Amino acid sequence: MRITVLAGGVGAARFLRGLKHAAPDAEITVIGNTGDDITLYGLRVCPDLDTVMYTLGRGINTQQGWGRAAETFSVRAELAAYGASPEWFTLGDRDFATHILRSQLLASGLPLSAVTEVLCRRWRPGARLLPMSDDPVETHITLADGEPRTVHFQEWWVRMGAEPAAAAITAVGAARARPAPGVLDAIDAADLVLFPPSNPVVSIGTILAVPGIAAAVAAKTVVGVSPIIGGAPVRGMADACLAAIGVDTSAAAVGAHYGRDLVDGWLVDDTDKSAADDPGLAGIEVRALPLYMRDLPATAAIARAALDLAVELR
Ligand code: GDP
Ligand code: CA
Repeated sequence: MRITVLAGGVGAARFLRGLKHAAPDAEITVIGNTGDDITLYGLRVCPDLDTVMYTLGRGINTQQGWGRAAETFSVRAELAAYGASPEWFTLGDRDFATHILRSQLLASGLPLSAVTEVLCRRWRPGARLLPMSDDPVETHITLADGEPRTVHFQEWWVRMGAEPAAAAITAVGAARARPAPGVLDAIDAADLVLFPPSNPVVSIGTILAVPGIAAAVAAKTVVGVSPIIGGAPVRGMADACLAAIGVDTSAAAVGAHYGRDLVDGWLVDDTDKSAADDPGLAGIEVRALPLYMRDLPATAAIARAALDLAVELR
């Protein structure tokens, strides 16, 4: 079975571990969000690609959900001693090696997709990891109050804790970006496409903003997993992103936001089972089950339910 998954960072990576467990023989292609990418200290950092790569490659800091296991922070302390900025983004010593090598390879002329392949040779994630695009796309946030001001998504998310409301979220460069080599083929060739419980705005939304990707996905059988349980994002601040685009923080509203043209099936938590009767989800097959990715068995059960529903709807 060929499965293609659109992926953000932590939510996607956890789900993918469960998916590999539920479908050990499947050929999995992951299309990763690059809208969170940022250049820091001259190095290109791709947080979502790395979270997926480290998680599936068993190099992740499991408590945190991002960054490398058993990290140390000497380089960061040295940069701080120089007064280098930004001081609000944490990169560990082990993690730095990834960004140094990535930047070196990009500078030598390799596209991000080829660089990601090189990095994955070490991590052997057991899935093909493709950036959504080789062209730079960066999510920027226009702050709602005070002087009109736009900051990089990471500055809003990490430094400001998504505290000031966002008036607009823009995937800068997306309209001109081309899907990376292999992306459209992986969608076309897939038996089914899954949306893990990733941020619908700045993870999946950004991938879908790359011209051609949404249309290719819409042509497939797609099952999504709600990132919202009982009206709250389980981890993180996805509610701040949903508010910015005028979508309620509810499983039903997120499913309706994707819409029946894009998703065929929508998994919600047991707490949200009334979503099945929501008029906004008419035409979408809704199933309720526990969606908290507590541990590997619980997560594999969610992945299995997504696969079963997709096979049923094909
Ligand atoms: P990020 O790029 O690291 O923010 O990660 P993603 O975009 O892949 O996923 C983040 C989203 O995952 C969060 O906004 C949560 O709504 C969702 N999430 C995190 N943990 C869980 C969980 O255990 N169950 C479900 N259903 N959603 C989760
Ligand atoms: Ca992310």
